[in-house]
Amino acid sequence: SYFKDFNITEQVKKAIYDMGFEEPSPIQEKAIPVILSGEDVIGQAQTGTGKTAAFGIPVVDKVTEDRYVQALILTPTRELAIQVSGELQKLTKYKKIRTLPIYGGQSISHQIRALKQGVQVVIGTPGRLTDHIRRQTLSLDKVHTVVLDEADEMLDMGFIEDIEAILKQVNGERQTLLFSATMPPPIKKLSYKYMKKPQLVAI
Ligand code: AMP
Repeated sequence: SYFKDFNITEQVKKAIYDMGFEEPSPIQEKAIPVILSGEDVIGQAQTGTGKTAAFGIPVVDKVTEDRYVQALILTPTRELAIQVSGELQKLTKYKKIRTLPIYGGQSISHQIRALKQGVQVVIGTPGRLTDHIRRQTLSLDKVHTVVLDEADEMLDMGFIEDIEAILKQVNGERQTLLFSATMPPPIKKLSYKYMKKPQLVAI
């Protein structure tokens, strides 16, 4: 299949071609149409398979230039938050959208200033995100998409309580996407509890 066949805007297609992607990877080919249809998706894929763009393409396609947070992406580590933010920034080359990585160890006042600039996509580690939610420096009122990236890693790192606290804060009408290399029972439990009829996409 080809990127041109996806039902996404020309702005996003152009950015994909600029990134040098010629055709969708298997996880992208399977997951992107289901995510575009609005369904919740559990994607089972390892790093290196193109999983970031598998959720990143539909997310940046859906996000508008309105200046409030519309998509929230949870990652286990600061390194992954920065990497995902960078990839999404490339995908938004032809859209006026800000992506912001937020993680522990970085000055919170710096992050608060950055959030006030009008950010559409926040990518963060669960601990620091709950910190911002508690301080009311991050409003999730208008978030319509939540991505749990490397969910198994996040659970292994003990982030389950923070993840549940965050999911409880987001509008129940949201679309929830969960990506994980493995599907141990705690991940299945999380998906039953917080996702609506999730479609399993595995490669
Ligand atoms: P990921 O699995 O998301 O960490 O992606 C691994 C690498 O593959 C990243 O450097 C991506 O930019 C790249 N990539 C993702 N999708 C494609 C694609 N369809 N064609 C070529 N490279 C890709």
